[in-house]
Amino acid sequence: MDINKLLRTNIQTLKPYSSARDEYTGEAMVFLDANENPFNEPYNRYPDPLQKELKEKIAALKEIGAQHIFLGNGSDEPIDLLIRAFCEPGIDNIITLNPTYGMYQVAADINNVEVKKISLTETFDLDNDLILEAIDENTKIIFLCSPNNPTGNNLDQEKMISLINHFEGLVVIDEAYIDFAPGKSLLSRLSEFPNVVILQTFSKAWGMAGIRLGMAFASTEIIDVLNKIKYPYNLNILTQQKALDLIQKIDEMKRWVKLIIAERVKMADLLKDYPFVIKVYPSDANFLLVKMHDAKGIYDYLVERGIIVRDRSKIHLCEDSLRITMGTSEEDNILLNALNDLI
Ligand code: PMP
Repeated sequence: MDINKLLRTNIQTLKPYSSARDEYTGEAMVFLDANENPFNEPYNRYPDPLQKELKEKIAALKEIGAQHIFLGNGSDEPIDLLIRAFCEPGIDNIITLNPTYGMYQVAADINNVEVKKISLTETFDLDNDLILEAIDENTKIIFLCSPNNPTGNNLDQEKMISLINHFEGLVVIDEAYIDFAPGKSLLSRLSEFPNVVILQTFSKAWGMAGIRLGMAFASTEIIDVLNKIKYPYNLNILTQQKALDLIQKIDEMKRWVKLIIAERVKMADLLKDYPFVIKVYPSDANFLLVKMHDAKGIYDYLVERGIIVRDRSKIHLCEDSLRITMGTSEEDNILLNALNDLI
C-alpha cells in the first residue's frame, strides 16, 4: 500500500517547520540557538521534539522499533492528526462504529470530514458486511475501538483482520483499554498490516490521564507523516520526565491493573443481583456497562449522593445503561451501599 497516495496533496508537499532542536541535536557547551532564557534550568529549554529517550523506553517495553512510535498529547492528538493528514475536508469521509468513543466524530467534525456511523450488532460486535457496504472511494479511515468504549468488549479479532485486508485506506485500532484485556492486542502483529495504526495511552492502566500522553504505533511511513504535521514541541518536559519515572515502576502499573480487574469481576457479580439491574455486559475494560430499569433516575439519585457514573442511556444500543468506571474497592463499596439503600 502506498501511504503517500492516501495523503492529502497539501500534506504530501508540506514543508514542515524546522525547530532549533531539529537542526542541531548533539551535545554542546552553550546553546544560543533557540531564543531560550539562560536561567531557570531545566525548564528554560525546549523539550526534545521527537522524545527519543522516552521512545526508546516505550520501544523496549512494547517490543517494537522506536521508529514505529509516535507520541502525542493524549491519544486525542494522533486521532486529530490522522484525520487532518488523510482526509480532504468536504470531500473525504471516515467510518466509525456506533456506539463508540466520541472523539473520532468530534475530530472529524472540526475538520469538516463526513462520518459514516455503522451500527454494531446487538452483541456489540462488528458487522463487516455493513461496514464494507459503506466504504466508497472517499473513505480514508475506519476507526475501530477494542475494547470498545462504552460497550466494554473486545471486537472479534478475525473480523478486524478481515476488514484490514479488505480496505484500501487506514484502519485505526484504538486500544486505550487493552491492558485490561491481556493477550488481545494486535500490536505484536503490526508489521503484517501496513495500513494499521494502533493507539494506546498512559491515561488508563498507567494512571496518568493528567500528564496527557498517548501513543500511536504504525509503519514508519505513517509515523513520519504524523511527525511532519505535529506541533514541533507537542510533549512538554514534565510529561516526558514523569512518564520515564513511571516506566521504571512498571510493577506498580501491573499491580493496579490486577486490582482493577478484580474489582471488575466482583462488581459484575454483585451488580447483576440488584432488582433494578437488567444486565451487566461482559467487559474487557476498566468499566462496566450496566442496563437497568430507570437508568436516568438511578443516575440522578447517585449524583445526589455525590457518586458520579456516566449516563449512557441516550446512546444507540445502550438505552437504559450506565457506564461505571471501576474505582478502589472502598469507592466501589460506597456505590454498592448507595444502591443497597435504594432497594
Ligand atoms: N480512546 C478511548 C477509547 C477512550 O475511551 C479515551 C478516553 N476516554 C481515549 C482514547 C482518550 O485517551 P487520551 O487520554 O490518551 O487522550
